[in-house]
Amino acid sequence: MTAYAFLTVPMHGRVNPTLPVVAELVRRGHTVSYHTSPAFSAGIAAAGATVCRYPGGDQPLPDPPTPATLLAGLASTTVRVLPAVLADLRAIRPDVVVHDAACPWGAIAARELGVPAAASYTTFAFNREVRSPTRAGWAQRDVLRSRWELRRRFGTRGLPLFDLGNIPEPLNLVYTSRMFQPGVEDCDASYRFVGPSIGARPSDPFPVGALADPVLYASLGTVFDAAPHLLRAFATALAPLGGSVVVATGQTDPAALGPLPANVVARRFVPQPEVLDRAALFVTHGGMNSVNEALQAGVPMLVVPQGADQPLVAARVATLGAGLTMRSADVTAESVRALARRLLDEPRFRGAAATLRAAQIEAGGYRRAADELERYARG
Ligand code: UDP
Repeated sequence: MTAYAFLTVPMHGRVNPTLPVVAELVRRGHTVSYHTSPAFSAGIAAAGATVCRYPGGDQPLPDPPTPATLLAGLASTTVRVLPAVLADLRAIRPDVVVHDAACPWGAIAARELGVPAAASYTTFAFNREVRSPTRAGWAQRDVLRSRWELRRRFGTRGLPLFDLGNIPEPLNLVYTSRMFQPGVEDCDASYRFVGPSIGARPSDPFPVGALADPVLYASLGTVFDAAPHLLRAFATALAPLGGSVVVATGQTDPAALGPLPANVVARRFVPQPEVLDRAALFVTHGGMNSVNEALQAGVPMLVVPQGADQPLVAARVATLGAGLTMRSADVTAESVRALARRLLDEPRFRGAAATLRAAQIEAGGYRRAADELERYARG
């Protein structure tokens, strides 16, 4: 039996792929502790982990949209949470630490404890084609100060000096397939492309079974404020093409979309993998998890990137033929409907999505991730 300690950034996109891995490790008889915020505690406990809380409650830990704020946030958060995290982990005595690649506090804790660490990439792996957003952030004075403090107070051996959003370890789990990763030949053998890790997640009841085919789904994710006019344009564009249209509004109140056609269901949050299993088309912001989940379900996409790594993800979807992209500025009900019609009518999009679906499934998902972590623990 191995004791694993998971440390991630408490955000849906960072936590979701780890939950089925945690559940699988627990099913295999291992123990798992998991550091998170109150908002994610119930889901993590349901996966079978012992929940540890970061100090400071639900205040947002960093993953903001700009590289500069991301790096500054990561550096200062690490200084702030590390003493409490270390105290927890000294009591738990894990054998292996599994940290998000953008969790310096997890990487440093492993070094302080003298235990092996694995990194978890819910984005692409970073290489010459996919640049880490924090690689050029050294010029900020507050980052320099935090980084110096970390070096003075803790064991930071082998940690990148400034690229704190990309901390690779001897084992790096990447939750997509080799086929979807740009420049995959650049990634050495420490990178294991385990594919999407999709399993049971906590969610409110949603009538997936009552939806009428074809089901068309739109979401701009959970992080970026989804502009009501964009969501409304998606709903009205798709309504005449679909049996049912599902719109997940995220941070936006569904009421802000105004009156909608009768076949549109707008909710803040829906069980996305279940909806995608029924969907013929997905209008998405191109969040890495959303796209991985859509590819796993073989659903063609219209990607409307909002920021962060989404333009890159959108370009990859288009390059591989599994969808089309458009800019937010070009969104109108007519422009979205025209592209949606092509995605539904031209079989090549569904064909490319099916090819990627096969690659995603073959990557092995959460069971493969658990295999890799067990092998790593055995040394
Ligand atoms: N998600 C969900 N229901 C929703 C919206 C999102 O279950 O209504 C999940 C989605 O399945 C994915 C995650 O939240 O796993 C969003 O992560 P992603 O990287 O796609 O985008 P982000 O929200 O981080 O921008």
